[in-house]
Amino acid sequence: MIKSLDLYKQYESIKTEVDNAIQSVIRDSSFIGGKYVTQFENNFANYQQADYCIGVANGTDALEIAIEVLELPKDSEIIVPGNSFISSAEAVTRSGHRVVFCDANQDDYTINIADVNKRITDKTSAIIAVHLYGHPCDMGSLVDLARKNNLKIIEDCAQAHGTEYRNKRVGTIGDIGTFSFYPGKNLGAYGDGGAIVTNDPELAKKCRMIANHGRIEKYNHEFEGRNSRLDGLQAAILDVKLKYLDNWLNQRIEIANIYKQELKNEVNIIAPVQQNWTRHTYHLYVIRTSKRDELKKHLANNNIQTGIHYPIALPKLKAYEYTNQADENMFINRVDKELLSLPMGEHLSVEDAYQICSKLRNFFGRIANSFSNPRD
Ligand SMILES: *Cc1c(COP(=O)(O)O)cnc(C)c1O
Repeated sequence: MIKSLDLYKQYESIKTEVDNAIQSVIRDSSFIGGKYVTQFENNFANYQQADYCIGVANGTDALEIAIEVLELPKDSEIIVPGNSFISSAEAVTRSGHRVVFCDANQDDYTINIADVNKRITDKTSAIIAVHLYGHPCDMGSLVDLARKNNLKIIEDCAQAHGTEYRNKRVGTIGDIGTFSFYPGKNLGAYGDGGAIVTNDPELAKKCRMIANHGRIEKYNHEFEGRNSRLDGLQAAILDVKLKYLDNWLNQRIEIANIYKQELKNEVNIIAPVQQNWTRHTYHLYVIRTSKRDELKKHLANNNIQTGIHYPIALPKLKAYEYTNQADENMFINRVDKELLSLPMGEHLSVEDAYQICSKLRNFFGRIANSFSNPRD
């Protein structure tokens, strides 16, 4: 069986270190706050080339806190790409703002800046730039557009640990960046976790206070905040895994390069484009084909797991019916039935990648034959 993801295999490769880290946290009773959290925050800030990192409970909270700290006008409009996980939009509405969906690029699937431009009104306050699948958004153009219109940019980096836009790690190119350490992300905890990064000391201080009951010291609360903290166990585990992250990302890139090479002549699929100004970290390798469901089944019959990210575009979800943006003029609302995520991760061998491509090509070869020779 070739799995789309194999977290136990990853654990086995670093078992002693992870087990020791867990034991240390328990021995020190350093469950909430404390040195393991601080150490990971410092190391992760450093890794992302950010001045500040604040650990929070998950990636969705990170987005909500980032939106709150920017103090946007009440009931403003925030532009969100319609192809993402629901958190990118959910955090907007839950913070008292309005979601306006925009389209995605047809080659790299990140936010379509021409389309963002069309959706800016005098109520728009911010843009959520999702570095989807590990590919960075075109931040140069987006920052220009945001400046011209006096808008904030929140980078949703949940799928983009280590991703680079023109040799700069994502997260601090816009105003503030958010990360998720959900177990299946490129850097995943053994439970929920998240982080916010920024280069602005005031924003950093305020985020930390919001995430910790609005306080600066134990019982001194300056305002009402909330409880959203990265815990000691998760931080200690993440700190072990962070050391291996670049190796793991490079293995993902190697697998992606095999997919790229082996599928380049397969006319029945559209492979993702990596723009040349990027370090794409391939959280997901997403192809598209009009025969998506049949191909998925064929691969499953050959013991190859695949996924779909995402099967229903956000504007088409019941939750967003009220936005009236489910029209098929938007690329995102058409392409969701064609997307297929091939297995991706450091658990894959080079042989696995060749095997996956060969099974994929067999599938289309068979279809072609069945057309030319119906009795076959
Ligand atoms: C996973 C994810 C989130 C949410 O992260 P959680 O830690 O699960 O709350 C937000 N945005 C995107 C793009 C994601 O993929």
